[in-house]
Amino acid sequence: MKKHTGQDRSVTTTWRPTTQAVRGGTARSDYGETSEAIFLTSGYAYDCAADAAARFAGDQVGMTYSRLQNPTVEMLEQRIALLEGAESARCMASGMAAMTAVLLCQLQTGDHLVAGKAAFGSCRWLTDTLLPKFGIATTIVDGTDTAAWEAAIRPETKVFFFETPANPTLDIVDMRGVCDIARAHGITSVVDNAFASPALQRPIEFGADVVAHSATKMMDGQGRVLAGAVAGSEDFILNTLLPFTRNTGPVLSAFNAWVVLKGIETLDLRIRRQSENALAVARFLEQRVPRLLYPGLASHPQHALAMRQMSAGGTIIALFLDGGRAQAHGLLDALRLVDISNNIGDSRSLMTHPASTTHSGLAEDVRADMGITEGMLRLSVGLEDPDDVIEDFDRALAAVGL
Ligand SMILES: *Cc1c(COP(=O)(O)O)cnc(C)c1O
Repeated sequence: MKKHTGQDRSVTTTWRPTTQAVRGGTARSDYGETSEAIFLTSGYAYDCAADAAARFAGDQVGMTYSRLQNPTVEMLEQRIALLEGAESARCMASGMAAMTAVLLCQLQTGDHLVAGKAAFGSCRWLTDTLLPKFGIATTIVDGTDTAAWEAAIRPETKVFFFETPANPTLDIVDMRGVCDIARAHGITSVVDNAFASPALQRPIEFGADVVAHSATKMMDGQGRVLAGAVAGSEDFILNTLLPFTRNTGPVLSAFNAWVVLKGIETLDLRIRRQSENALAVARFLEQRVPRLLYPGLASHPQHALAMRQMSAGGTIIALFLDGGRAQAHGLLDALRLVDISNNIGDSRSLMTHPASTTHSGLAEDVRADMGITEGMLRLSVGLEDPDDVIEDFDRALAAVGL
C-alpha cells in the first residue's frame, strides 16, 4: 500500500539512512498528507464493545490510549529505529526519561551495573544515587579503559552503560571492545548516543544491544523540545521496556514527536555542516587555549578510535583554561555571538561552564575524577558561519588575556 510505505519494513529497510531520515516511519492518513500529521488525541474510539475487548486482548490491531500508542509518536519511533539499525524503538518525554526507563526496566534489587565515569550529570545521578537506593550496586570505571569493564564484572552484573563521545569530556569508549565483553558475559550493553546521533555513529553496528537517546539534542537540533528514545531488539522493547513505560508513563507528546520528526529530516545535513564548523573552530581555538579536546583533531588522545566509530568529529568541543572559574566565566561573559547556554546540538553555538552548571550537582572529587576542571568549558558549535564564531572567540579570548 503506497499510503503506508513508510511503515512497510520490507521497503524501508533497504533505504539508505538519509532517505530514512526523511521518509522512514511515515504513515499517511486517508487524506494523503505529505507532511506527517499531528494526532493530538489521548484516546481512541471503537466501533463496538467487542472491538474494544479484542484490542485490549491484543487480538485486534489498533490503538487504545496515548500512554500506550499514538500515531505521530509511532512514526518517530519507527524512524529512529530505522536510523539506528534497530528492530524497534520507543520514545520518551526527555532523554532522562529514556535513561531512567532503560535502566529501571531491566534492573532489580541485588543486580549490579557497570557505568563509564564520564557521563551527563543526571546519568551519574541515576547510577550513583538513584539505583543504589533500590539496592542496585554500581561500579564506575574509566570508560576508555576496555580492560576495566571486564575487571568490574560480578556474577550479578546485568548492564553496561556508557556514552561515547561522553559529556562533557569527550572520552571515546571502544564500542566493539566493550560490547563484545558484555555479550560474552550475558550482560546488556546500553549506549547513550546523544552526542554523535545516528547520523555520525550507529552503536548497534559495533555490537551494542540497546541505544538510548536524548532526542532534545541533535535530533530536534533547533533547541525547541525535549524528547528521548530507546532502540533495541523487538524482544527487548516489547518484553522488557514496554511493561515499564506503559505503566509508569514517561511518554512523549504527539506535538513534540512531530517537532522531532521534522528535525530529523535535516539531521544529516545539519550534523555534517556543524561538524565541519566545529573542526574549523577547534583548529582556531587550539592555537589560543592551553588545552582543547575535539575528537576530529589528531591531538585528541583517542582520535583514531573516534574516527573508526564516527564518520565525523561531531559538534562539541571541550576547552581548558588555566585561569580557573574566573577566566572561564570571563570568556563566557565576553562572547557576543555564542550564547551562554547549557543545551547542546542547537543550530546556535552555545557554551557552558560544566562545573557551575550541568555538572554542579556532582561532588567536587567526582567532577575532578571525570576530568571536569574549574577552567573547563564545553562548546556546542552551531550552523552560523564559522568565521563569525571564530571572530567572536578571537575578541573574547583577547579580553581574558589569551
Ligand atoms: C542531554 C543529555 C541527556 C539528557 O537528555 P534530556 O533530553 O535533557 O533529558 C542524556 N545524555 C546525554 C549524553 C545528554 O547530552
